[in-house]
Amino acid sequence: MADRTDARRALVLFSGGQDSTACLAWALDRYAHVETIGFDYGQRHGVELECRLHVRSALHADFPRWARKLGDDHLIDLSVLGQLSDTAMTDARAIEMNAQGLPNTFVPGRNLLFFNFAAAVAYRRGLSVLVGGMCETDFSGYPDCRDNSLRALQVAISLGLDAPMTLDTPLMWLDKAQTWALAEQLGGEPLIDLVVEHTHTCYLGDRSQRHAWGYGCGLCPACDLRRKGFNTWVNS
Ligand code: ZN
Repeated sequence: MADRTDARRALVLFSGGQDSTACLAWALDRYAHVETIGFDYGQRHGVELECRLHVRSALHADFPRWARKLGDDHLIDLSVLGQLSDTAMTDARAIEMNAQGLPNTFVPGRNLLFFNFAAAVAYRRGLSVLVGGMCETDFSGYPDCRDNSLRALQVAISLGLDAPMTLDTPLMWLDKAQTWALAEQLGGEPLIDLVVEHTHTCYLGDRSQRHAWGYGCGLCPACDLRRKGFNTWVNS
């Protein structure tokens, strides 16, 4: 069979969560060379940052065809986001966010910032594709996750760098059940096991409870979405 690998080199916005892990597998399946970037802004007790390393190690160990393509990891210190969330939110807003179960480090437009930092790293590394797990379908409706926002950003970044930069969002029109199905399609049962054991989604950073769908408190909105998606996929 002819090699259908896309010769371009990609940078995946990789948080250590289920969605970005599916994106990483998708990129490794598709592109000739893939690097990862993560942002440290004091999120979720740092659990996600540990999960990132475990996911990368497991991909290296269990998926030889992907291991040879998996390049460097870049961890960017964005602790400045903590200052933004502290100063830009009123008390009422902060309470509202907490009631929704969102982390108190939430910053409006955060994904736009992430892509801009990723683009700068990609430019320096000779990478021309940025891959992110943003999704319109059943996420909380953040406007910076919407397809049109990111299409516009792709144009702005490509013009601003004077270099073509493609923003890929393979999960944009998938629901959570379809994201599980995508992982199965890309890596079979071993990738499902990897997602369950090593990825992190829970807003509370809880890894003390193991469910069929992975670790988490089981109650926060992120756990709720993940569980419902898993159950729908398993029963489909
Ligand atoms: Zn949770």
